[in-house]
Parts: sequence; C-alpha cells; structure tokens
Amino acid sequence: MPELPDVENFRRYLDATSLHRKITEVEVADAAVLRKISAGRLSSSIQDRKFESTERLGKYIFVNLDNGQVLMMHFGMSGFLKYFSKSGSRPPHARVLFGFSNGYTLAYDCQRKLGRIRLADDMESIIREKGLGLDAMDPGLGLKRFRRIMGRRRGMIKTALMNQSAISGIGNIYSDEILFQAGIHPERKLEKISDDELKRVYRMMKRVLGTATERKANPDNYPPSYLAPLREEGSECPGCGGRVEKIKVNNRGTYLCPRCQN
Ligand SMILES: [Zn+2]
Repeated sequence: MPELPDVENFRRYLDATSLHRKITEVEVADAAVLRKISAGRLSSSIQDRKFESTERLGKYIFVNLDNGQVLMMHFGMSGFLKYFSKSGSRPPHARVLFGFSNGYTLAYDCQRKLGRIRLADDMESIIREKGLGLDAMDPGLGLKRFRRIMGRRRGMIKTALMNQSAISGIGNIYSDEILFQAGIHPERKLEKISDDELKRVYRMMKRVLGTATERKANPDNYPPSYLAPLREEGSECPGCGGRVEKIKVNNRGTYLCPRCQN
C-alpha cells in the first residue's frame, strides 16, 4: 500500500511530467474510484485546464489546476501513476487518464479500485473533512510537537503511528520499519514508553521516511540494516542474525525481531 515515501515519489513524477500542459482529454475508464463527482463532470471540469503545481499531505496528492480548483488523489492499496506516449503502453488497470496537448497521457492506475479521485475548491476543506494530522515529514513537526501529539493518545505505539488523524503518511510497512530501527516492540503501550524511547521513535520516523523517499520507495535500494526488504517470517534479522517474526497488530501483518525490539 502506497505510504508517504511512495506517494511523495508519485508527486515528484507528476511534477516532472505533467505540469503546465493543456489537458485535451479526460477519460474515466472506471468511475468506481471517483468520489463526490460524476465522470461527466470531472471530464468537463478538467478539460482545457492545466495542472499548475502539486502538494502532498500524508498519503494524498493535491494537484492545483489553473482555475484554482484542486484534484485530490489517493492511491488505496495498489495505485500509481504512469505517463506514456501514444506509442507507449497504457497500464493494465488505468481508471482515469489525462491526455495532454503534447500527445502524452498521465494514467491513474489502481488495480484494486480502493484509491480515490475527487475535485474540490480547495485543499483545506478536504483536510478538515478527513481530519488529517500533520504530515510526518512536515518541518513544523518537531520533537516537542510529536511528544504532544503522542501524549494525547493511548494504546499500542504502532497503532498510534498509523493513525492518520494524529500524524499522516505512515502505514503498515513504515511503522514496522520505524519501530524496528528504534528497537521498540510494535505492541508496546504508549503510556509505557519513556521520553528517551519516544525521542528515538521520532528520530527514526524522520530518518526512515527520508531515506525511503530518496531511494524511490524501493526496498531493494534500502540500507542493509532495513527490515522492509525482509518482510517474511523467518528472515534473518539484519540486527542480530535472529529470526524475523510475524504477528498481527490490529489485524495487520506486522514484522519484528523479538530480540532487537522490546
Ligand atoms: Zn534482531
């Protein structure tokens, strides 16, 4: 499932390929991904417009159009973007396609149709409606603020990290990685985590998400000390050589090393 590092790379990809060009055609191949707008209205609203700039909050991209409206994209479990030429190949599960005046097309592909696309007058109203918290990589999210946010919550640390209304952008894979790097067991209760431990979680959150983003969210490129490429029960722990264990936390498959994390 695309998390902050993946979605930030999608945003950069969109910036590098699709800005400032007239959108000559909008094709909705499957309206199941649309929210609060019909295929016809989406097409007529975006046709002849341009994508001007992008912003990201957590797992959402907001594309600013040249008429002031905002196109929201969420990638569900399996979404991604692909920019291709007339002679190039259309991705297999393209749900919405934006054709540009240069003959290229940007496709929003989403195999499991759990992603969402929506048009709004501004980004803030969507953020408010969804109750999204600060982005995990927001420079305004310092240690003090992180402590305040976490201090208001109870329950397991992994659950708190994944709660998008506390901090947005972290999902199943990166909460596991952050906690592995911090040496904290994902089921540890927040109220039993010391100040020093919480500081470690904060530092690892920034470091892991930053590293993963710069390495294109591809686990094959991650440092050898990372757990993300080894998400399989019985893998060798890169920290101690022990065995990686799989448990369920809130029904999500969670990987950890019981020796390195406590
Ligand atoms: Zn270990």
